[in-house]
Amino acid sequence: MENFFDYIIVGQGIAGSNLAMHLLERGKKIAVIDDDWNGAACKVAAGVLNPITGKRLVKSWRSGIAMPYAKKYYASLQKNFGEKFFFDRQILQLCKSLEEAELWHKRKGDDEYSSFLSEYNPPKTFPKLNDNFGSFFINFAAWVEAPHAMDLIRNHLASCGVLSLERFDYSRLEIKADLVKYKNFNAKKIVFCEGWRAVDNPYFNWLPYRPARGEILTVKIEEMVSEHIIHREKWLMKYKGNLYRNGSTWDRENFRNNIATPEARAELEKALPAIIGKNKFEIAEQESGVRPCTATTRPHLGRHPKFQNLYSFNGFGSKGYALSPYFAKHFAEFLEGETQLDKEADLTRHIRKFYRQDF
Ligand SMILES: Cc1cc2nc3c(=O)[nH]c(=O)nc-3n(C[C@H](O)[C@H](O)[C@H](O)COP(=O)(O)OP(=O)(O)OC[C@H]3O[C@@H](n4cnc5c(N)ncnc54)[C@H](O)[C@@H]3O)c2cc1C
Repeated sequence: MENFFDYIIVGQGIAGSNLAMHLLERGKKIAVIDDDWNGAACKVAAGVLNPITGKRLVKSWRSGIAMPYAKKYYASLQKNFGEKFFFDRQILQLCKSLEEAELWHKRKGDDEYSSFLSEYNPPKTFPKLNDNFGSFFINFAAWVEAPHAMDLIRNHLASCGVLSLERFDYSRLEIKADLVKYKNFNAKKIVFCEGWRAVDNPYFNWLPYRPARGEILTVKIEEMVSEHIIHREKWLMKYKGNLYRNGSTWDRENFRNNIATPEARAELEKALPAIIGKNKFEIAEQESGVRPCTATTRPHLGRHPKFQNLYSFNGFGSKGYALSPYFAKHFAEFLEGETQLDKEADLTRHIRKFYRQDF
């Protein structure tokens, strides 16, 4: 039997999920196709929403607009689902050097940053942590318990009857003037949200993706170290009971599989004492996922240069949980002809340099 939709969404990671939720809210008829790959970034992500990032302690891109939106969105989602997966949490930044403590001082004196940063905590404020250069809190951060959130959204989409569990086969896509046809699905538009696997999408693989595999550990620490998200080069955060999540690594070469490596394990294991000092820990689990990073560190959003019913909503890199709720709203408005795309995220900026295909 033929089925007719407004949109087909390929990929139910956090990007495709958030877009699906926004389109459903608009009353659109959608079909979501996902193959439940267990190396998808959304399944292993830390899920931190961090307004101030990097070695230079700078505001992350679009965080001023995307973070407040994401917080409201996740809070309302968990209320509707009746299960908690979203938490306001400060980030405890343990300074790794005197230079970093001085950088805190500089930023704290800047009006644009001062409300984001707490006062400086001198060394030995946190006896169970390695705070030998002191520390400070980053305010307005939050945490999404990623695997739990993904399960809840998946169950919701399944209960709405919009989710099909299968691998999308690009060779079966038929593109007509005013619709696309995939097996017995017919739709006005199709939106690709496959994460890093866009590199295998014949219509959008010309975009400059730079996938980056990341591994994380779940570690058991008997003595409670802190309820905060702790950061010093790597991060450590309380998960459940005496289990903490600790990550992550960056590997831009071996991204085609998600087999956990002894190298990543050793890297994380070695870095942990820089956070917890002499506290004992035991590794309970190691996971690996691939981030859909891009050459410009901006998402790849927009319409295919040739086919007006093919779209990309992808490239959220290491910030899919933080950025994709706001951009899902923005993209739904764009799809419905209500707004122009954010110029920095609009994939048309890459056409001249990278698009060579002739279909
Ligand atoms: C270790 C690690 C830590 C991270 N920490 C954070 C963090 O703290 N905060 C943050 O905001 N972000 C974080 N991220 C990044 C975040 O996970 C990604 O930005 C986000 O998951 C990208 O979402 P996505 O939906 O685009 O892609 P993905 O999560 O990769 O999902 C893509 C989906 O598409 C499906 N798919 C792909 N191809 C096909 C096909 N042909 N047919 C059917 N289905 C298909 C896959 O099975 C998958 O379900 C982290 C990532 C990693 C790896």
